[in-house]
Amino acid sequence: MPVLDLQSDVIYGPINSRRLGRSLGINLLPITHKLCTFDCIYCQYGSSQTASLTESETGFPSVDEVLRKVETALGQQPAPDYLTFSGNGEPTLHPYFPEIVAEVRRLRDRLCPDTRLAILSNSSRVSEPEIKKAVEQLDDPIMKLDAGDPETLASINRPLAGVAFEEIIAGLRAMPRLIIQSMIVTGPVQNVEGEAHETWLKALVYLAPQRVQIYSAERPAAETGVERVPRQVLKRLARNAEQRTGVSVTAY
Ligand code: SF4
Repeated sequence: MPVLDLQSDVIYGPINSRRLGRSLGINLLPITHKLCTFDCIYCQYGSSQTASLTESETGFPSVDEVLRKVETALGQQPAPDYLTFSGNGEPTLHPYFPEIVAEVRRLRDRLCPDTRLAILSNSSRVSEPEIKKAVEQLDDPIMKLDAGDPETLASINRPLAGVAFEEIIAGLRAMPRLIIQSMIVTGPVQNVEGEAHETWLKALVYLAPQRVQIYSAERPAAETGVERVPRQVLKRLARNAEQRTGVSVTAY
């Protein structure tokens, strides 16, 4: 059972987000189950039911349905600050993700040129050329990086077989205007201190993103034992990370 209800349509919100202002979400994923290449210990939608992903996965909205609903949403006033690909899992898993991004961009340019396009992605497919090219079309590619080493990735994000840490890092390094989002957790599995935190800092130096957003679990987590990092600690971590990496880091 999901911990929070899944999004029940293609368009959801608007959500008043601390990071994105007034943001309208675009959910490209099925509405019946979470579909993701990760199974993060803190996922707000509960544990992933999908042990592997196959070409036969169904339940995605069609390209026509997505574009029709985006066009209708953009026709309403006031225009959102952001149109954000997010939703019931990893947005890049939609089989026509590149085509949808190109068309949504056209709609945005025509109907709401001041609205920015963003994605909240887990970065697992960023080394695939088609996906990378599509993500690059967005104004704000907000890409997950909770771990700076394969072991921490395995313990926090629990990726499907075939998702390689080194490929994520290589793909992110080549991404222009990169924004990193990192969930900081404590408890039996953690990235708040020690080796797991140090390797994350090193990865930030290597990737040199435009900026980094850190936050902690605010919602019910998939696993018991995931503990929230208090806001004061997050702020201290952000200051320390800025000093160590030279990258702008904000605690949310
Ligand atoms: S990447 Fe997001 S949707 Fe996927 S398991 Fe992690 S938190 Fe959940």
